[in-house]
Amino acid sequence: MIRLEDPVNVLYGIGDVAATRLERLEIFTVYDLISFLPFRYNDWSKVSDIASCVEGQEISFYATVSSAPQKQGYKATSPVSFFVSDGAGRIKLSFFNAPYILKKFQRGDRCFVHGMVNSFGGRPQIVNPFIEKDETAENMPLIRPVYHQTSGITSAQLSRWIKTALELVSGQLRDIVPEKIVKQEGLPGASEAYRMVHFPESLEEASRGRRRIAYEELILLGIGIKNFLQGEEKDDRAPIVVPRSDKMTQDAKTRWKKVLGNLGFELTDDQKNALREIQTDLMTSKPMNRLVQGDVGSGKTAVAILSMAMTAIMGKQSVLLAPTSVLAKQHYDSAGKLLEGSGINVVLLLGKTKASLKKEIKEQLKTNEASVIIGTHAVLSDDVSFNDLALVIADEQHRFGVKQREKLLISRREDEDINRVHNLVMTATPIPRTLAMVIYGDMDTSVIKQKPKGRKEIKTNFLPATDSDDLYRALKAKLRNGEQVYIVCSRIDDESDGFMWDEVNDTESDVKDFVSVKTMAKRLKDHGVADEFKTEMLYGSMKEKEKIDVMERFLAGETKILVSTTVIEVGVNNPNATLMVVMDAERFGLSTLHQLRGRIGRGDKQSYCILASNSRTEVALQRMKLMCECSDGFELAGKDLELRGPGDLFGTRQHGIPQLRAANLFTDAPIARKACDEVNDIFEKGGWEATDLFDSIKYMFDLRFRNKMENL
Ligand code: ADP
Ligand code: MG
Repeated sequence: MIRLEDPVNVLYGIGDVAATRLERLEIFTVYDLISFLPFRYNDWSKVSDIASCVEGQEISFYATVSSAPQKQGYKATSPVSFFVSDGAGRIKLSFFNAPYILKKFQRGDRCFVHGMVNSFGGRPQIVNPFIEKDETAENMPLIRPVYHQTSGITSAQLSRWIKTALELVSGQLRDIVPEKIVKQEGLPGASEAYRMVHFPESLEEASRGRRRIAYEELILLGIGIKNFLQGEEKDDRAPIVVPRSDKMTQDAKTRWKKVLGNLGFELTDDQKNALREIQTDLMTSKPMNRLVQGDVGSGKTAVAILSMAMTAIMGKQSVLLAPTSVLAKQHYDSAGKLLEGSGINVVLLLGKTKASLKKEIKEQLKTNEASVIIGTHAVLSDDVSFNDLALVIADEQHRFGVKQREKLLISRREDEDINRVHNLVMTATPIPRTLAMVIYGDMDTSVIKQKPKGRKEIKTNFLPATDSDDLYRALKAKLRNGEQVYIVCSRIDDESDGFMWDEVNDTESDVKDFVSVKTMAKRLKDHGVADEFKTEMLYGSMKEKEKIDVMERFLAGETKILVSTTVIEVGVNNPNATLMVVMDAERFGLSTLHQLRGRIGRGDKQSYCILASNSRTEVALQRMKLMCECSDGFELAGKDLELRGPGDLFGTRQHGIPQLRAANLFTDAPIARKACDEVNDIFEKGGWEATDLFDSIKYMFDLRFRNKMENL
């Protein structure tokens, strides 16, 4: 018997080659295959006639073959062509790589045709249309699912495999949507829902099926993460309480004043509020679980480090986790400046920190000699233990997994009972509260909306070419003014070819068309820019040490142009950088673009962002326009939703949630709550129904999300 959890190659027709290709679509198991939903449908039910064909548009029509199919030339690759007509008009069809067409169609055959009209030598034609003999077409579904593709696999193949799979396994799908919700919402049953989305008889039916699957996904997420991923033992332990600030000694007060003095600016009201909320939390015996949401550049770091300073002054330890060593180093430097003269000992712990130094730092952590710890994943390693850890802050949290954070939430003390620590998460990605609750469990939120005083709004412009003199002119103008520049590319070098994920269109594209970091660096040389202004490259696969050095030279103003991949997306802070150029900007999601843009406009100078792109697709242009018009991350998130619909919305992938297939995390948050509440009600009542449902959810959760949650 074939089971849902079996690898796809158990299915007839899927060999090892196909299985490897399917992996690129994240399809590993039979279940993955059937839950791989179409991203849109071609509605072929609207049949028109040849006379009404418009160049650049898809058309479906019935016609008669009016000329015998003929090979156009003598090469093996020459196309086969023939004309079809329908009384009102006549059009040429051309087929590449389809020699069988020669034999399959003859003059006088009635057929159904669907395809994209284009023109060739001024005459309309359709290349490689879908074509079937009339008799066959009559029994054909006219709502055709379109799946995201990868090279070597077509929608038609996927459709066929899914059909086979559904016949064999759809009975094994467990029913996890409570009966009450099914009735209220008029949802189809589980296996019927999958039939409806893959082989709908109407678009309306497809969307009904999708709705059922959306409920399933939301239940799996909402119930699954809490029950199967997050530790259950965590909430009943008390955290280490930071002494109340009104109990501060004179000495402590002086030290706190010193820190505030080091800031060099006045906190915004929102920063002050966030800080106050955090302090209050730290001083109670309930573990803090707080999310600080603030758009890029809103000054979250200052809030974090001040919270750590307060904790240190009150005699406890705290950890700030950064997603990259570059960022950790940068936080370490700012913390160093901020805490100067306050008697607080700050340490930096990275993966590449030398063994001898690491050993020394670990000793300092055990004895509380070091009270502010900044680092990367290295801090999470098992042999690091603390004396009195009270607070853990994760910056740009989406880069850390729940499981990873979970480790630190339990403070490891050598000789005493384990305590729970206060947890603070800082993120620039706006997510609705209900969604945050589904992902992180119950969390309080502090929002930093105001930007620090004196900031000028970043001006964003669209440049409709990735190689243009305008660009080099703009670069030189900024650079001659003593300012610095970021240039971001979507790939590293030109050697690696093949296909690459396209975040926006959610397809793979041939990478050759895109400007790489290395090509860009070379162009800067060719245009004489690099000779005049020191240019360096930065990308993920470089050695950690090298990355930090490059970054330091850029921060110090020694390097003027930094050509990089999106490694600089998160957190880097150089107020003298005033120009951000994004190459092939259409390849990045709005969330990423907004993060990238957040690297500039951090000082008082006017900053500019240039989005360079050769793409002319409507979606790309719309997105670029949006970026140019809108500078508010929260507003962009909303617009992104309108543009894209369900799927990978503004940064959900960054939150480490695997891409959802049917549900929309923003708009479906209310139904997520409703469905999860209902499930929890059933759990509370207990009995066989509860046990059954729990088992089913666990089974489906494992199928759907286990192994895909590494980043959550
Ligand atoms: P983000 O919220 O993106 O992490 P950062 O904390 O990196 O932002 O802050 C961006 C820049 O703004 C830093 O140079 C920081 O020193 C500065 N900054 C933070 N708060 C203020 C403030 N209240 N007034 C002026 N500058 C500030
Ligand atoms: Mg930051």
